[in-house]
Amino acid sequence: MSAPVFRFAPSPNGHLHLGHALSAILNFDMARSAGGRFLLRIEDIDATRCRPEYVTAIYEDLTWLGLEWEHPVRRQSEHLDEYRAALAKLDAQRLTFPSFESRAEIAHLVADRESHARWPRDPDGAPLYPGTARGMAADEREARIAGGRPYALRLDIDKAMEWAGPLTWSETGEGPRGERGEVAADPAAWGDVILGRKETPTSYHLSVAIDDALQGVTHVVRGQDLFWSTSVHRLLQALLDLPAPVYHHHRLILDAGGRKLSKSDHATGLRELRANGITPANIRELAGV
Ligand code: GLU
Repeated sequence: MSAPVFRFAPSPNGHLHLGHALSAILNFDMARSAGGRFLLRIEDIDATRCRPEYVTAIYEDLTWLGLEWEHPVRRQSEHLDEYRAALAKLDAQRLTFPSFESRAEIAHLVADRESHARWPRDPDGAPLYPGTARGMAADEREARIAGGRPYALRLDIDKAMEWAGPLTWSETGEGPRGERGEVAADPAAWGDVILGRKETPTSYHLSVAIDDALQGVTHVVRGQDLFWSTSVHRLLQALLDLPAPVYHHHRLILDAGGRKLSKSDHATGLRELRANGITPANIRELAGV
């Protein structure tokens, strides 16, 4: 059997905080104790929010923590063609459709629906797609795209689930409600998720599912906030014929008010802690790892 492969996959849209340290150290330690490999992946598909100086800062902070990873580091922005090819495959299976509503139009449609009854929200709290583009005639779609209209490419969740059948994943950590063992995926909870946009041929979900497979990742260790995203990742793995890693979701570090740490909260930023004389050993204690 080949060695297990772990990865830490931050987005360079801010500086790392204590929560990232927990995730990175856990991955590193688990890889070490399993005699496995530890990879770093830079998830920089969001050109509006990601910045090169944050990539440099990620390398510096992780090195300071005493972590070592394999080279070259995979940067998602350098692999857009691979994501485009996967989208083309899903399109050929007739599992995606373009939707043309702006964010404001979607907000309006949701408000309209909510005036009658509660409109469902995804696990992150965003309303499910309320539009009707799924049923749009092919020539109308093509005319809009040819006319340069912006669009989001969505997965037709009902069709995709029918195609893939029921799915589960193996969880060695814990979900927000103590879920563990063989967990039933629930992709319907996300509605017709966005897999790409006119200007970016991928999304968080699509690139994670593809990269984990291309990099041979066998163990995904990440925060519990991504627990239910695994449903979409499992579905994409099934549709694209990719292997399923084992998942291990870990507890989140919360701030004094019980909220998830954010990259803009300086009190828990690794750079600030370091400037205040905190050592990597202290970080392990603070993160409880
Ligand atoms: N890039 C994601 C983040 O920074 C993590 C992706 C993952 O671990 O699956 O939240």
